[in-house]
Amino acid sequence: MAEKRDYYEVLGISKGASEDEIKKAYRSLAKKYHPDINKAPDAADKFKEINEAYEVLSDPNKRATYDQFGFAGMDGSQAGGGFGGFSQGFGSMDDLNDIFSSFFGGGMGGFSSSSRSRQRSGPQRGSDRMMRMKISFMDACFGKTETINVDLDETCSACGGSGAASPSDVETCSTCRGSGTVVTQQRTAFGVFQTQGVCPDCKGTGKRIRKICPKCKGQGYNRRRVDKEIRIPSGIADGQQLRVQGLGERGINGGPNGDLYIEINVEPHPQFERDGRNIYLEIPISAVDATIGTTIDVPTIHGDVSMKIPAGTQNGRQFRLKGKGIEESRTGRQGDQICIVTIKVDDDLSRREKELYKELQELQGKRAGESIWTRFKKSFS
Ligand SMILES: [Zn+2]
Ligand SMILES: [Zn+2]
Repeated sequence: MAEKRDYYEVLGISKGASEDEIKKAYRSLAKKYHPDINKAPDAADKFKEINEAYEVLSDPNKRATYDQFGFAGMDGSQAGGGFGGFSQGFGSMDDLNDIFSSFFGGGMGGFSSSSRSRQRSGPQRGSDRMMRMKISFMDACFGKTETINVDLDETCSACGGSGAASPSDVETCSTCRGSGTVVTQQRTAFGVFQTQGVCPDCKGTGKRIRKICPKCKGQGYNRRRVDKEIRIPSGIADGQQLRVQGLGERGINGGPNGDLYIEINVEPHPQFERDGRNIYLEIPISAVDATIGTTIDVPTIHGDVSMKIPAGTQNGRQFRLKGKGIEESRTGRQGDQICIVTIKVDDDLSRREKELYKELQELQGKRAGESIWTRFKKSFS
């Protein structure tokens, strides 16, 4: 490696150059000597040299050290020159990316490690949130509109999410030069270890704000309590989720908010049972009504409906009340109510009722045909 050139000389600038002048000089030289463009045999070395110079001079701390101590102040660089010490690699990836995306309409092919930092600085959608909502059985049948209020982080309208008072108040973080990460080195008996961490000065954003936005106090978003009307469709089932777009966690770097998912918990009804859009109801009737038939008013979710129980109805028989179930707003289909007859024996009879039952029993014993019981007994012989 040839004698190291002075960093200012490398970039062709004066000792008193401003940050902007350093950046400008670096950009034009990096374009000129990038190995993808410049095929001269010494282009790669020149490119390295430029990067190294820029890495030091673009960092106020390192620059001050360099101004005072020269290369001796640069950790490790005096040992092997070139790429030793902290000037390892291309710390200024983002700057290069800026340059080459404008050239090639994309990132730099050969330096794909920079995709990490591109991912960091791009807009990202916020996470989804989840809440539960308990609704009554009837509300699930007919649907309802419920108002929820949630705390929502909205991108600050004053600064557009940058957190800065004006666009010119946003500058690239000089500690990490916009990458959001810093590499620290530790020298041990086994060698030099490098660890990469989030930049402590900009917390990984890669940006520093000179004057913060007064509306959001530099946060880039404002928390607001919003009331949102939620339409719960009729026929919603227990455990189903409703998605409300944009009511989730805030996005990152101007990305959209996540969504809010509302899980619906439907309270059970003491009598009605649901299977999709159909309603099931057990109907207790007396043995007398089952035997000789009757007409009853059956409760449905739409109100009472008159239903005929024919003579000779057996226990467990089902009657369908068409259209008396749930109208699903999702499918537009109308369910039915299914009534299941259960015959109940009355154990609290009046004296007159007992007399009549006794009479009935005697009558059945004498009748010409076979009774239920004798038919059953005969099946054993
Ligand atoms: Zn703001
Ligand atoms: Zn930083």
